[in-house]
Amino acid sequence: MADDRFHVYDTTLRDGAQQEGLNLTVADKLTVARHLDGLGVGFIEGGWPGANPKDTEFFRRARTELDLKHAQLAAFGATRRAGVKAADDPLVAALRESGAPVVTLVAKSHDRHVELALRTTLTENLAMIRDTVSHLRAEGQRVFLDAEHFFDGYKSNPAYALEVIRTAAEAGADVVALCDTNGGMLPDELAEVVLAAAATSARVGIHCHDDTGCAVANTLAAVKAGATHVQGCANGYGERSGNANLFTVVANLQLKRGFDLVPREALADMTRVAHAITEVTNVTPNSHQPYVGVSAFAHKAGLHASAIKVDPNLYQHIDPSEVGNDMRMLVSDMAGRASVELKGRELGYTLTPQDSRELVDRVKELEAKGYTFEAADASFELLLRDTVGGGRRRHFEVESWRVIVERRPGGDVVSEATVKLHAKGERIVATGEGNGPVNALDKAVRVALEQLYPELARLELTDFKVRILEGTHGTHAITRVLITSSDDSGEWSTVGVDENIIEASWQALDQAVTYGLLRAGRDGD
Ligand SMILES: [Zn+2]
Repeated sequence: MADDRFHVYDTTLRDGAQQEGLNLTVADKLTVARHLDGLGVGFIEGGWPGANPKDTEFFRRARTELDLKHAQLAAFGATRRAGVKAADDPLVAALRESGAPVVTLVAKSHDRHVELALRTTLTENLAMIRDTVSHLRAEGQRVFLDAEHFFDGYKSNPAYALEVIRTAAEAGADVVALCDTNGGMLPDELAEVVLAAAATSARVGIHCHDDTGCAVANTLAAVKAGATHVQGCANGYGERSGNANLFTVVANLQLKRGFDLVPREALADMTRVAHAITEVTNVTPNSHQPYVGVSAFAHKAGLHASAIKVDPNLYQHIDPSEVGNDMRMLVSDMAGRASVELKGRELGYTLTPQDSRELVDRVKELEAKGYTFEAADASFELLLRDTVGGGRRRHFEVESWRVIVERRPGGDVVSEATVKLHAKGERIVATGEGNGPVNALDKAVRVALEQLYPELARLELTDFKVRILEGTHGTHAITRVLITSSDDSGEWSTVGVDENIIEASWQALDQAVTYGLLRAGRDGD
């Protein structure tokens, strides 16, 4: 069990699930909880049993299906209604019956909210807090209190906001989490309020939303001011601009402030956990996410590459392996020999000085024409294979291709492609139909090759980006196409450039298929 002196409290399954477009089934929630437990968080808030049938089911299934190693489950719910006893309130009963060892009660701490939203008196609100906390404590559960709208409440009526904290602590709440519910605070003003709250007898925690882009900074400022309980969500999920990103908070506190929050080896697995959770939530991972994003340690090398080769720590704030990430080199038009060599090494190739020079020349020449290898690792690797050791063998050679686009009577537009190619000593002619010319070409290539390479069935084009690059003096504008493809074990991107968009697409497509075959272990003939 985690050390109780400092709490890492995750609310992905409750507050994070408020994010637009994010929908979690009960099975999804159980999976996310397992990932978070693996990371070593202390508490996982599972939802609001009684108010939401899915959450009631989550707590029921969690009892038999979740075998948590580090974390304790917390059930979220409100203080009792005005004018009834906590013991008689059915929603409080649902919290009691959830089986969760911890209950986190949300309570109003802003006087205006008590009067306008809750429509009761300030005194009755305090009684609701006192009664609900002490009732649940007496029934054997640990109680935390989320003081909703605390910071705005403190501005409106500081004495009352502090009275809410005192009342909860005296009734037996272990922690009062101060919530910046509207997310409008900045670190300096927030820290002052946390100091005032921490001066009461209560143990205080912090719950921040990212509406000012300061959720993580606010959380760190609160910790400095005395908070010993931090709340946040995986990958910063949450409504509006999201909640404090719990991964960033944990990495910052542990790696920069010396806190011992999660096991070292769990922290070193954080990048994988962050991505595994995106698989469940089906939210595209943010490649720029601090610590765990794909680009978090990606360097546009150029001038710096030779220094990075000598000492990578000169160019990164931590060793990426501490959070399970990797340093990555981007091959850009500032490419020098050092960055190409580094990138080659990253891909597992040893380049001779002659290879490097040739490759750099080739990259520069292509980048001058509008190619970009920063976002097209697969194209770079194919170029590298063409250069090293006398070039690569081909899986197929294209003789020609043709596409027609037809607008049929009635308005349907269809495309038909014919591809002629040579593979494994055969000449193959194949056609494909699609909703657009590139789709038709893709289908025709697959028809042509699928007999020889059945693994192509697993290859999928997942993204297609077109960019028009301005022509320089006397030349025409050119088109750059980036294609992202995937198979069951990962994805890769390829690039094509031409004045003609279909030729540019064809180049990217040809490489996408070739690279897919290399990944499948086909070396070419
Ligand atoms: Zn919240």
